[in-house]
Amino acid sequence: MSKTYRTDQPEHVVWEYSPAPESRSIVHLQSSYGLFIGGAFVEPVDGDSYRTENPATEEVLAEIAAAGLRDVDRAVEVAGRAQKTVWGPMAGAERAKYLFRIARIIQERSRELAVLESLDNGKPIRESRDVDVPLAAAHFFYYAGWADKLEHAGFGPNPAPIGVAGQVIPWNFPLMMAAWKLAPALAAGNTCVLKPATTTPLTALLLAEIIQQADLPPGVVNVLTGAGSVAGAALVAHPGIDKVAFTGSTEVGKDLQRALAGKGKHLTLELGGKAANIVFEDAALDQAIEGIVNGIFFNQGEVCCAGSRLLVQESIADTVVERLKSRLSTLRVGDPLDKNTDLGAINNADQLEKIRSLVEEGEAEGAVRWSPSCALPAHGYWFPPTLFTNVSPSQSIAREEIFGPVLSVLTFRTPEEAVAKANNTTYGLSAGVWTEKGSRILWMAQHLRAGVVWANTFNRFDPTSPFGGYRESGFGREGGRHGLAAYLDV
Ligand code: NAD
Repeated sequence: MSKTYRTDQPEHVVWEYSPAPESRSIVHLQSSYGLFIGGAFVEPVDGDSYRTENPATEEVLAEIAAAGLRDVDRAVEVAGRAQKTVWGPMAGAERAKYLFRIARIIQERSRELAVLESLDNGKPIRESRDVDVPLAAAHFFYYAGWADKLEHAGFGPNPAPIGVAGQVIPWNFPLMMAAWKLAPALAAGNTCVLKPATTTPLTALLLAEIIQQADLPPGVVNVLTGAGSVAGAALVAHPGIDKVAFTGSTEVGKDLQRALAGKGKHLTLELGGKAANIVFEDAALDQAIEGIVNGIFFNQGEVCCAGSRLLVQESIADTVVERLKSRLSTLRVGDPLDKNTDLGAINNADQLEKIRSLVEEGEAEGAVRWSPSCALPAHGYWFPPTLFTNVSPSQSIAREEIFGPVLSVLTFRTPEEAVAKANNTTYGLSAGVWTEKGSRILWMAQHLRAGVVWANTFNRFDPTSPFGGYRESGFGREGGRHGLAAYLDV
């Protein structure tokens, strides 16, 4: 490690690390992957496929089967049979054993899962290794513990599984979202048909392999890769699906709500967000700066609960912005497999285009844009860490979910004004509060309309805590005891 000084900011020290790449050879990529139906990998009936690529290089990683309507029929049918004949009637303690086994195999194969996640999604290996994979294992461990205690979950006597769950997940936390969906559903005795996002199918397919390795009865978990508009839409509308769990954009979530109206299916939606990260003048500033940075630049800001609106008390706004600029100048953008990387690639070309156009709109509306000077790789989808000042609450960058490494800074004078600005959104997924005053934390938490309020921390997840939104961020909770309720008839 050596120390250099940037020419544009001579006072600013940049630590130069030598590259520390994780070995790609740990993953054994197949050239093509089938659908996982009835405990086996099979070809789609009509033979359709598409390619998944590495967003950091645009290199094709593998050919992926695209499920059609007949594949959806087949998967739902085997899942229905497995639910009625094997998984539903099985004692909870037996189901728990399978879930514990899956959790342990995830741990054993964690390095492989982490590298594969970073290759397919573009996220830094440090995050897939330290967050995504351990949290996926933690979810299976946690819900394994519930499988034989459902009657003690506080939902009344004899809670029963709903039946077959159709689960559709996004590309930002592919493995973790699969675990959040599968673990509670299976613990409660449901069987599952999971549809991963088109651009990130690989870890869900490796999880299917792990499920095979754990000897889960065939048909209990099925994984259908393919297009949202085809496989996803057919899956959620299928009459054999009793429960739909969707995580993704608010737009598609609303479409699903309309499409499923009157069909009598259970539905939970985890949608977008535009979280406020609120910093008071008495906050421990070093900690708050790190929390703001983690809040918006973790996973390139492709996080539904990202702290994309910084609300900072006016008296410290200039100091905070200066400190943020200096901290952002030390962030390393580049190779997701490098252990020193802080920001990886944007997951796909469409998302990059969406970020670019919202950022341009922000500039056109008069906000002041700032990014550190950082060289971006020539290939792949990249966006630098970006800060907007001079932002007014009515501008699109303050209202719309950008889902990228872009922070909009707004100011407030009083706690009441902070709450009013924070709640001035159609979303309501999360918020953060930074202050040394305990009573203020409690008051803010009571008045912020958000499913989770973090105090002096941000983006902290735990399988024991319910997570989910208010308003257009969706409804239903994942995690904790509440996560089980979403998969039980009581
Ligand atoms: P998306 O809505 O485009 O896609 C999500 C999933 O839905 C994908 O698997 C996609 O193939 C599928 N899909 C698309 N159209 C469909 C249809 N008509 N019927 C059924 N399925 C369909 O979202 P995305 O771009 O993959 O993910 C980003 C979004 O997800 C962001 O808005 C983000 O906020 C949200 N998100 C929310 C949470 C949460 O917990 N609230 C977590 C992660 C991501």
